[in-house]
Amino acid sequence: MHQHAEPKTATQAPAPRQQDGARRLERRAHVRAPALSQAAPAAARDHDADDRDGAVGATIGGILGGAIGIAAGALLGGVAGAIIGGALGALAGAGVGYLVGRRTVTINVTRLSGVADTTDVDVARANQIYKQADVHVSTGSEVTLSPTVSASILGADNALANFTGNTLTPEETQLISHNRMPGRITAYYVPRFSNAGLRGEAIRPSRFGVTDPSVVVGANTRVLDTLAHELGHVLTNDGSHPNVATNLMASGAIRNFTDNLTPAQISAIQSSPYVR
Ligand SMILES: [Zn+2]
Repeated sequence: MHQHAEPKTATQAPAPRQQDGARRLERRAHVRAPALSQAAPAAARDHDADDRDGAVGATIGGILGGAIGIAAGALLGGVAGAIIGGALGALAGAGVGYLVGRRTVTINVTRLSGVADTTDVDVARANQIYKQADVHVSTGSEVTLSPTVSASILGADNALANFTGNTLTPEETQLISHNRMPGRITAYYVPRFSNAGLRGEAIRPSRFGVTDPSVVVGANTRVLDTLAHELGHVLTNDGSHPNVATNLMASGAIRNFTDNLTPAQISAIQSSPYVR
């Protein structure tokens, strides 16, 4: 049951990097790390100020492409040719610049009624982390479910009944029907899980047979990198927890918010069908 337990002695099983769409699935149970503050480790990070993204790449590409196009146009037809060539070159260069810049994973976000909105801070933290992979996390459709709909999902206990095997609970199945788009990950923020120790869980297609992945965050237990961690399970298509406290994918029992990614994890993330 490596998919569930988070033994502190767990080692990271080398995950098969499958390009053929076959997906392995699991869910992760997250034990709250009792002594860690979510604020303290963030102060040690300094690589988050560089907003190296597609906009910068497009600008640089446009300038370079424009210059090349002007030169080519001048050779062909003098001033008019230079103008046209420059414009075409700029367009091509911008496109090239974009391609060599960041890639993006877009997530829909669904909050159940009464849940505090931490989307901005959670996504900002995810972007700090996934910058290691040159991947940008973008939010798509954001929805807050009504009290009536939320209650219909969670029942009287106002807690999400979480899976314990390879089958989703009826509450989870109902939950993940909301705010879906083909080919897109949807994140759900629930007030709490039935398992009070859970921070979050990842629902991957290869484990549960769902069409697209979901991540679920417990609003009462989440820490700053919970969303990023659950996205990591989806983007690496790997449910394992390396026994390395500095790694994003370490279990909540040991993770110390350094949130490093290994080269293998970065490669898997960049190969994810949800990163475009
Ligand atoms: Zn996990």
